[in-house]
Amino acid sequence: MLRLIGNRKETLKASFALFFLVFMTWTGLQESEATSTSDQEHPTFCCAVNCMDGRVQDPVANFMRKFCSAKYVDMINEAGVNKTLADNPDSGIAKYLVINIKEEIKISQKHGAKIVAIVGHYECGGNPAGKEEQIEHLRKAKETVEAFGLNIQVILLWVEKDFKTVVLIK
Ligand SMILES: [Zn+2]
Repeated sequence: MLRLIGNRKETLKASFALFFLVFMTWTGLQESEATSTSDQEHPTFCCAVNCMDGRVQDPVANFMRKFCSAKYVDMINEAGVNKTLADNPDSGIAKYLVINIKEEIKISQKHGAKIVAIVGHYECGGNPAGKEEQIEHLRKAKETVEAFGLNIQVILLWVEKDFKTVVLIK
């Protein structure tokens, strides 16, 4: 009887070891898939400094994935961010928002991002100005981000009132 129990324990141990081995092999396969050569050959990340508005997240991410041929879009979100970057204040909370945006773009560069978009959109709660004025904010915001001196290409995007159409501002 004791011997039987002993064998059963051995069987359990062996089963556990086998399960562990299968699990580790599976985990290894998942990891090698995530770092396949095709990911290393193409830019996997790009970056968007976008409003927090939920309506503009998917359209901007979809646009950027195509525009940059990237798999992932790092999103840096602040309400009415084009106005904050255009103002580029040297004091107050907004100053620290700008510093934080700079630091987060640097993290995206560590992911390999070569392009960052700054986004403005229709009916923005954080920046209630009209389209023309917001596009001026975008142009000034570009100057602010370029002055960070981060060696990253800055593009400007406008999301139209259908919250689907994304326009590249020249
Ligand atoms: Zn907004």
